[in-house]
Amino acid sequence: MASLSLKGIYKKYQGNVVAVSDFNLDIEDKEFIILVGPSGCGKSTTLRMIAGLEEISEGELYIGDRLVNDVAPKDRDIAMVFQNYALYPHMTVFENMAFGLKLRKTPKDEIKKRVEEAARILDIAHLLDRKPKALSGGQRQRVALGRAIVREPQVFLLDEPLSNLDAKLRAQMRTELAKLHLRLGTTFIYVTHDQTEAMTMGTRIVVMKDGFIQQVDTPQNLYSSP
Ligand code: ADP
Ligand code: ADP
Repeated sequence: MASLSLKGIYKKYQGNVVAVSDFNLDIEDKEFIILVGPSGCGKSTTLRMIAGLEEISEGELYIGDRLVNDVAPKDRDIAMVFQNYALYPHMTVFENMAFGLKLRKTPKDEIKKRVEEAARILDIAHLLDRKPKALSGGQRQRVALGRAIVREPQVFLLDEPLSNLDAKLRAQMRTELAKLHLRLGTTFIYVTHDQTEAMTMGTRIVVMKDGFIQQVDTPQNLYSSP
């Protein structure tokens, strides 16, 4: 069974803007889907609908076999990592990572366990007592990832998570995200502008244009010269 199913999804904004048109895609468990396409083609809107941050105008969204169109974001088995990974400046790394779990009334010892485990995976275990301002850009990005990982979601949504990092760090994080994907064994949906990220990280690439899916294929097929 597909872990995520998008059936005839449309997003219409006020003023006759159709941001997403007839989006159909079945995403298998553990896939690493890359969403690419020019600015304004509907990538973020698609992610935001999956996360529940944007209402779906038409169509059906299933997570597992559950229809989630009307399910609140916090009740979807999904976590999202943004490009502008705003951390809470007054909280420590630990508290930043724990925050979402606290909201969901996760028991304290379970929170501690999950935060420490995620911190180990992301190599930020030594930073748990620091405030965000005492971290480098790469470390902050790891904390943002950590905040999502601790939720142990079935689906991970990433909206250009590396675009604010310098080239060297981006290359390093690419490798680490790929490893993280394997290690967590969850479904990733990843929006990027970066062709290297698309080529090296994804199991399938979805190319969008003007709100439509233009092409869906493996990186090998999409980028190999004829
Ligand atoms: P991408 O992520 O591919 O750059 P978006 O999903 O952000 O594209 O935007 C798709 C289209 O929807 C664009 O034409 C954009 O201007 C429009 N759009 C996005 N958000 C809104 C909104 N809140 N209200 C009206 N139009 C919007
Ligand atoms: P509250 O705001 O409810 O008082 P705290 O912020 O004090 O909660 O911490 C919640 C839990 O997380 C506590 O059990 C605390 O021991 C643990 N904790 C806080 N910071 C760290 C840390 N840096 N490393 C490990 N555990 C921590």
